[in-house]
Amino acid sequence: MPIATTNPATGQVLKTYDAMSDEQVDAAIERADLAFRQLHGTTIAERGRWMIAAADLLEAERDETARLMTTEMGKTYAAAKAEVTKCATACRFYAANAAKMLADEPADAAAVKAKRAYVRHQPIGPVLAVMPWNFPLWQVMRFAAPALMAGNTGLLKHASNVPQTALYLEELFRRAGFPEGAFTTLLVGSDKVDRILSDPRVRAATLTGSEGAGRSIAQIAGRELKKTVLELGGSDPFVVMPSADLDKAAEVATTARCQNNGQSCIAAKRFIVHTDVFDAFAEKFAARMSALRVGDPMDENTDVGPLASEGGRDEIHAQVQDAVDNGATVLCGGEKPSGDGWYYPPTVVTDLRPGMRMWSEEVFGPVAGLYRVDSYEEAIEVANGTNFGLGSNAWTTDTAEQERFAVDLDAGNVFINGMTTSYPELPFGGVKNSGYGRELSAVGMREFCNTKTVWVG
Ligand code: NDP
Repeated sequence: MPIATTNPATGQVLKTYDAMSDEQVDAAIERADLAFRQLHGTTIAERGRWMIAAADLLEAERDETARLMTTEMGKTYAAAKAEVTKCATACRFYAANAAKMLADEPADAAAVKAKRAYVRHQPIGPVLAVMPWNFPLWQVMRFAAPALMAGNTGLLKHASNVPQTALYLEELFRRAGFPEGAFTTLLVGSDKVDRILSDPRVRAATLTGSEGAGRSIAQIAGRELKKTVLELGGSDPFVVMPSADLDKAAEVATTARCQNNGQSCIAAKRFIVHTDVFDAFAEKFAARMSALRVGDPMDENTDVGPLASEGGRDEIHAQVQDAVDNGATVLCGGEKPSGDGWYYPPTVVTDLRPGMRMWSEEVFGPVAGLYRVDSYEEAIEVANGTNFGLGSNAWTTDTAEQERFAVDLDAGNVFINGMTTSYPELPFGGVKNSGYGRELSAVGMREFCNTKTVWVG
């Protein structure tokens, strides 16, 4: 993929970049390694001050940073502004909580025949972050904030279509006070990831992206014996049971499917509805989906902007067409618009069956699949019947049923009567082909720490 900013609302290429040479990449890795040693001599309080300075910059520069993201990948300006604010919140969260998360944990010294014994959490070195374009600031920040607070350094290989946001991130941490090399953007294609991750100075990798990219990075990391955290795709179920508040469920379902123009790994994608309330829910949901305003992402009245790439739009349209060709029914949307920009209308498809692409694949755009089920057991069977296991939603006011969903849904996140969202306070990640490892909270911070046992006799 060329490293370039192409506006998805117009299809116009606005800026292109040359990929960095191997020599430039090697020099950047060297700086990241030196910065790691330098960070070793800093305190958590000092790093916390820099992290707060980063939050201040983000807040002060919210509007222009948001405009940049909208221009590069098409999310609505309102959503982009919210993303910048969320990043500032995460910086402040880790600045405030890192000391507690990294504190030594005393063990029972007598039980291990020691005078003193404890667990220490220490940083491991430069970490490669391979990141996607869909939340170009947030996906990076949820790695960078805990990693830098722990004393690791970051090497960012961002998606090739968001180079300006990638460069902004490097500048952000430098201006906030972090040493030169603490956080570096590598403008390279994915073909360079093997070389970078094979470098002995790079200690680990984190990836958010597709299953294919995950397999590739895990393979390299396996060969090099390096730790990885993989946050891959999802096809989140959104189960609606008879006791649910249907109006609220339909409202949240619409947001959960169409947030970020439908391009979120934790977007609800499969709407599994009990037969007793299926028709009522389908009507409310399709009405809300068709009422969404599709258009210029910079317009404050727009709900759904263009997809990030032409290929992405072609892919979801092909998935819808495949379902229709095999007997599915379109309740709204489903037509690819003509004209400039990679727009796609919010779409609801029902009468899906195994064998259709929409049944088993992730749909990365504003297209919802509706499934009718007769019982709790069937709802669980359909919900868990994919290779993914990232987020999940269940709507029920029956408390016993809520507990059953929390246990039975095979996913990294279960949200009852609400939308799956990532919070700095809670671990985030998946099971099955959605990846492994966790981001956020203390769990995420410790993924790239050496959990060191110290025993003193
Ligand atoms: P990719 O996985 O292709 O891109 C994500 C990042 O991985 C980019 O930086 C990309 O670089 C890099 N990359 C791609 N292939 C490799 C590889 N073989 N080895 C190393 N790095 C690689 O996602 P796409 O943007 O192509 O989107 C495709 C699908 O990925 C979506 O339909 C969705 O299913 C999933 N996805 C999931 C996301 C999530 O949040 N979980 C986010 C985005 C996508 P480059 O841009 O240079 O190719």
